[in-house]
Parts: sequence; C-alpha cells; structure tokens
Amino acid sequence: MNQAILLKNGNIIYEDGRIEKSKNILIKDGKIEKIFAKNVNENHSKMKYIVYDCTNKYITPSFVNLHCHSPMNIFRGIAEDVSINDWFNKKIWPYENNLNESDVYLSSVMAFLEMINNGITTVADHYFFEKSIIDAAISVGMKLDIAPTIFNENFSNRIKNVESLIKNTKKDTVNISLGPHSPYLLERKKLEEIASMASTNGLNVHMHISETADQVKKSIEKTSTSPFEYLYKLGFFKTKTLVAHGLWIEKDDLNFINNETFFAFCPKTYFKLSMGFGNIWKYKNNLNFSFGTDGAASSNTLNVLEQARIFALTGKILYSAEDFTLTETWKSLMNGHRFFKFNSGKIKENFDSDLIIWNLDKINTVPLNNPLASIIYSSDSNNIEAVMLKGNFIKKENKIVSVENFEEEFKSFLKSKNKILNTSSMSDRKF
Ligand SMILES: [Zn+2]
Repeated sequence: MNQAILLKNGNIIYEDGRIEKSKNILIKDGKIEKIFAKNVNENHSKMKYIVYDCTNKYITPSFVNLHCHSPMNIFRGIAEDVSINDWFNKKIWPYENNLNESDVYLSSVMAFLEMINNGITTVADHYFFEKSIIDAAISVGMKLDIAPTIFNENFSNRIKNVESLIKNTKKDTVNISLGPHSPYLLERKKLEEIASMASTNGLNVHMHISETADQVKKSIEKTSTSPFEYLYKLGFFKTKTLVAHGLWIEKDDLNFINNETFFAFCPKTYFKLSMGFGNIWKYKNNLNFSFGTDGAASSNTLNVLEQARIFALTGKILYSAEDFTLTETWKSLMNGHRFFKFNSGKIKENFDSDLIIWNLDKINTVPLNNPLASIIYSSDSNNIEAVMLKGNFIKKENKIVSVENFEEEFKSFLKSKNKILNTSSMSDRKF
C-alpha cells in the first residue's frame, strides 16, 4: 500500500478551468481522499503522510493521449516531406513488417517516457505486438487502453489472440479495445464480425475513420455511403467508439454517432501530411473530442498539449479570435479522460490521483496574469515539475522517476532502430 501524500498549499485548476488558490490535497491508496483549505490540516494530524510542498505551484488533472501508435517512436524522422501515400506505402509499411516484439517493447518504453515528461498518464494505443506494449506500460507505470490492430491478413488468428488477451488481462491499469485498422483496409464481413463482437461483449472500438478526403470519396464510389454511414450499417457505434481523426466527417455523418463516440484529433499530423483542414473545426460543437498525438513518425512529438494548441490556433485562423477559447481548449484536453475506464480526469474525492504539478514561476510563463494561458500557450515540459499516477510520482523534480535502467534500455532501443532501418520489405497493404 502506498504511503499517504499531502500536496500542500497548491493552486488547483479543475477540469472545467475553475481555479482555487491555496488548497491541500490528501492522497491515500492512490486516490484523492480529501481537498481542503489551507490551515485546516489539523484534522489529519493523526494520519501519517509525506508532505509535498506545492506553494505557488499549480495542480491539474493529468493529460491523456487519445490516439497513438507508441512503437512508431522508432521511426521518428524517417518519413519527412512526403505525401501521405508515400508516407504509408514507401516509408512506413515496408519497415513495420520487420519489427519484432523486443523492438516494439523498447520503442513503447521510449514513447511512454516521453509522454510522462509531457504530463500524459494514460494512452489509447493502436498497434500489433500488443503484449509488448502492455509490458512496456506496466514497467513504465502508464495507464493503457490498447487496441490490437486488426487487418485482413491473418484475421481469424488475430481475433482469437484478442479474445484470449481480453480474458487474461487482469491488470486494473490496462484495458483491451477492438482495433480494426479502418473501414478501407478490412473486408465487409470481417468488419461485421468485429462490430458484432463489440456489441455482444460491450467492448470499446478504436478505429481510423474518414482520415482523408480521398477515403471518403472512395467509400462513396464503392459503397454509396460515407465511411461513418457504412460502419453504422455494419453495426458499429453501439459501444464506446474512439474515432481516430474523423478529419473529413460530413454533416450527415453526425446522424450515425452518439454521446459514446469520441474523436481523437491529431492536427500536427494533418498539417505535416497536407491532409487539409477537413471539417472538424466546423463541427467541433457537435463532436465529443479530445486530442491524440498519433505516432512520432508523423507528428514527431508525443505531446497532447501541443496538439491542443495547434487545434485552437487553427480554429482562430479559420473562424475568429473570440472562438476556441482557453477554457474550451482546456475542457477538450480533459474530456479525453472520459473515454477510459480508469476513474481519472477530475480533482475530486475518490478519483485516482493522476495529476500534474506545474511550476509556472519560470521565465517562459511569468507573470501569471492568466494561468490557463500560461499553460496552453506558453508552457513546455520544463514547467511540468511532477506527474503522479495513482498516488505514485512517475516524474518528480523535473525528472522521470518510473524507470531505473533507462541507459540500458536506451542503448538497446538504438540497436533496434539500426537493425530495423537496415531492412525493408514490401507490404501487401496499399494506402
Ligand atoms: Zn493512427
């Protein structure tokens, strides 16, 4: 059992952007036990706890990364200044074919450490060699919702593997979702099978939908329906569904989604790969969304705050400076917690203490005329002094503390990288 911790005399920014000054947060058994004003901690004098002084610091819920391919950290920088078609067909799929379990483990560890550094405690990941990703998350101390990627190839075996993984995963910081890659890369019958598996067993689905204008066009040519309508008719959207991107969602598509449909926006990827503005800025008030980083091979950083910043700035250019407000951007960041089953995202009694402690008394963020503006538009990872997950510090005093043998793992990671980039083979898939 963890020792109780008192975060003393900090300023809280809640998930709705509300700020309360000089508060104490008592954390016990990984959960927020009590929030109370300064100088009333006499009530707790009988309880033994460690004090962490938060004077002049800001405490917020942690961030979540709603869409990532963590093992793609190994490919960071190998596919620059190329079209989205070349990105997939020439740069990524030929190398991905050669990854093994150990490469995926090491690359995921590196990805999770980067996320922790940026205040992220929870990630929705979509990839293969899922067991290695689960091991990496447990070893680093991240919460993970993993959607093992399902393609046409080897379909029946993949489904069996996923079923057994669901049955055998007991860890309360890991959840298994269904991860069909996308409507365009899976046959109709296979998609139907996954939809039925989701609704029968109440499983989450995490899938790429309407990423590009071309995908929507081809879907209409082939099926006479948009990707959203096509999937709806096959039986999707009956359980919690995480839409990766949905950049080119159309107005009529709003009829096929519901309150349990979440969108992960990753605007840095869209801009780097010239995918256009799409419609997500236009329909933001109709969509239940938060932010993902996508993999480092397309967005280069695993930082959801950066994605939120780009989203808000783009919204201001497309619409008006008064729109896409600080509070709205903050709420969108926090909204991602609602996709997960992990009881996080609020500074409230009985919620998991998944928190960030910010030091905003730095040259890039002072004076603090508007703390939310300092976080959203001025801060970087150096302002994230500490990150806590279920009452444990995973970053403390500006250093990641959840991995002991970092140097060794980093060396192995670089070896893996050299091996992978010296081999490539053709993939059957075509973007
Ligand atoms: Zn993706």
